Amino acid sequence: MDLEEEEEEDYRSESRRKASTVFSVIASVLSGFLGNWACFKVSEMLNVPSQAFPAAGSQQRVAPAGQSRNKVVLKPGHSLLDWIRLTKSGQDLTGLRGRLIEVTEDELKKHNTKKDCWTCIRGMVYNLSAYMDFHPGGEEELMRAAGIDSTDLFDEVHRWVNYESMLKECLVGRMAVKPSPALQGLSAPPSLRPEPLSAPLPAKDHRPRYDWFQTDGTVNIVVYTKRKIPSAGCAVVDLQDDNLRVEMLLGRMSYLLYWRLSSRVQDHVDVQTAHSVGKVQLCLRKSVKEKWTQLGQSLEHHDTFIQCKDRGLFYRECVLLSKTDVTHNTQLLRLQLPPGSRMQVPVGRHVYLKTSVQGTDVVKPYTAVDQMLIPPSQSSAEVGSDIHLMIKVYPDGVLTPHIANLPIGASLSVGGPEGSLTLRVLRDVTHLYMLAAGTGFTPMARLIRLALQEFTVIRKMKLMFFNRQERDILWQSQLDELCTKEERFEVQHVLSEPADSWTGRRGRIDACMLQNFLERPENSKCLVCVCGPAGFTESAVQLVRQLDFSEEELHVFQA
Ligand code: NAD
Repeated sequence: MDLEEEEEEDYRSESRRKASTVFSVIASVLSGFLGNWACFKVSEMLNVPSQAFPAAGSQQRVAPAGQSRNKVVLKPGHSLLDWIRLTKSGQDLTGLRGRLIEVTEDELKKHNTKKDCWTCIRGMVYNLSAYMDFHPGGEEELMRAAGIDSTDLFDEVHRWVNYESMLKECLVGRMAVKPSPALQGLSAPPSLRPEPLSAPLPAKDHRPRYDWFQTDGTVNIVVYTKRKIPSAGCAVVDLQDDNLRVEMLLGRMSYLLYWRLSSRVQDHVDVQTAHSVGKVQLCLRKSVKEKWTQLGQSLEHHDTFIQCKDRGLFYRECVLLSKTDVTHNTQLLRLQLPPGSRMQVPVGRHVYLKTSVQGTDVVKPYTAVDQMLIPPSQSSAEVGSDIHLMIKVYPDGVLTPHIANLPIGASLSVGGPEGSLTLRVLRDVTHLYMLAAGTGFTPMARLIRLALQEFTVIRKMKLMFFNRQERDILWQSQLDELCTKEERFEVQHVLSEPADSWTGRRGRIDACMLQNFLERPENSKCLVCVCGPAGFTESAVQLVRQLDFSEEELHVFQA
């Protein structure tokens, strides 16, 4: 099996697993173990809800019976800010009066009730009891972690959550290191668990490889990815001081090169990609023209090829270059990467914005978009030096009002990219259907462009776009323009709170709407992509499956 097949098989089994547990996944999306993307909108934070968010009357808050599993209506006084305040109040949240202890596995197991709930994440033990009422997914979800090592559970839902910051006042201590597992016949304790580099690696010769060479003034690194690279690119390069980190995002796999360079270079990296042969070449300029005897010293996880989901998140400080209004409450942010960074965000992937609110890190994922739906030609900015994010500002949120108020020139910490879409799902697709609600349009934006420009096999691509009011439709005029220009593309707008004058479709997603929309002509291969609020996603997935679309024909965007 070659790597492509292997990755594809990996994808298939994952989508089978996803589909078979679709409701539990959606339940996670809705509630999350410590919060997740959907909850972020609810909470604007990984794991902590905002009482006033979504706004009262919001469709996310008031989901129809049977559609949403969001069990939680948080009690007043249990917002994200309330949690942050509580953690700063000096109250003893662990019951240990600030003492840190070593916790044995037997001890951990004993703390498994709501009033006394300990869990272990990456070898550190936290008392979650005080957090119970603040968790957007509710107690029940949190109790899944009670008395056990919940690292895998946590990683499954949202490994990017900065729990160290969120739960620092809940820290009980560290898991005790057991005697040698060899002697005990037991597995290693969580604190000794190896870094998650254990994902089965594809056969050796499918691994990307690299080479380097130098001239008097330059150092050049060439990465042979051994597969075709999509036009959006796959390289994420960060040169910080003398440390050079190069990550290649290859479908579901990540190839990392990481060095402390032998000598100083200028803080600018040039990245050239030969897409069809899968070669990426980096050019660094030496600060001093001298011969290097070696490239540098290898740093952590250098030359590893593992699944993206197992790679740690890397953050860099970006500068806010501009903010442009897209609708009455949504802005397009343009962020400039530091001079030594280049980021080619694969289509459908998201990045994380991190900022500090009263000393606690708040993180939220955003799908990268282009400057426009179909940019006229290559934009003037250097490829990979800027990122565009479409951000809806929720007045009662914690992160978005902060972002909306940032002055031009302010800095923002950007992590990632991450995401599950691999272009393999588009292979041989003739009919691409997109069901998007609200900002769930963002992953579709680049998908539309990619499909139009690179997937000539696609005969028809249709977007059904659900919004509350007409003024909420993102890039409406660009979508309409594209419809007139591109025969293959079609958009249908559906409003849930339309004005009387609206002549288009009304209501929320239902079977009748989809029946006609999701046509399946003979000899076609269909793909249905879904993204939006959790309740919407849940309904859409259910309806699409009822129309006999298989798991392979369905892609749900979620963080
Ligand atoms: P919104 O609240 O304005 O709702 C937009 C439309 O979604 C509504 O008009 C309605 O038609 C539909 N809808 C909402 N709740 C529904 C429900 N319970 N059942 C059926 N239909 C429902 O949307 P918004 O505020 O723009 O939120 C967009 C959501 O998309 C956010 O939750 C965001 O986190 C998510 N999102 C996810 C990703 C991703 O996972 N990759 C990317 C972008 C956005």
